[in-house]
Amino acid sequence: MRKALVSILFIVNICVSAEVFAIPHSRLAQVKQQIIEYHQSGAYEYDLEKLVEQANAYLSKRIAENNSSKHHKKLAVVFDVDDTALSNYQYFKTSDFSDNSNVWNKVLNNADSPPLIPIKNIYQYAVGHGVKIFFITGRREAYRKQTEINLLSAGYTVYEGLYLQSNNYNNLSAAPFKTKARMNITKKGYEIIANFGDHYSDLRGGYAERIYKLPNYIY
Ligand SMILES: [Mg+2]
Repeated sequence: MRKALVSILFIVNICVSAEVFAIPHSRLAQVKQQIIEYHQSGAYEYDLEKLVEQANAYLSKRIAENNSSKHHKKLAVVFDVDDTALSNYQYFKTSDFSDNSNVWNKVLNNADSPPLIPIKNIYQYAVGHGVKIFFITGRREAYRKQTEINLLSAGYTVYEGLYLQSNNYNNLSAAPFKTKARMNITKKGYEIIANFGDHYSDLRGGYAERIYKLPNYIY
């Protein structure tokens, strides 16, 4: 069932993002309904919680090791922002899952997306145990203020750094930017023990002991 859903979601991604409407509208409506069901049935949150459970076990092991070591390291965790730290699901649902600039403008300018609760839980666990937090996002620098406002309103009140892409970044993939940001964090003396994101481009490129790929209801 899960595999089938992933395949369906992949088709939706092609249809919505690339605007290739190769499947009938009736089928597209059905697929959108399945996305909604995946979300509303609790399956999405269940998948998230399973992932966070694994991550939590690793974090607690690394924190304990670090605490018992004579040479304490500066441990850090990295989070992507959209559909990782924050949930934009309602915006996409309201716009019938069209991944267009109007939806993104609303997400960015309204700055009121709620947190993804399982991710916020692991954030709180990390903060509570002295692990430093960094956010690395494909959002542009022009949206730094709005991003800070949204992170704060979602309860992400403590972090060491927020990395955004420069306004003229023109690589189609966020991966080089995100890898470089993690490299910079590492050069500052932090050990990134976990990196969370909903896209593989959030996670490729190293500079993290563990990577955690979140399920994404569209991609
Ligand atoms: Mg994301």
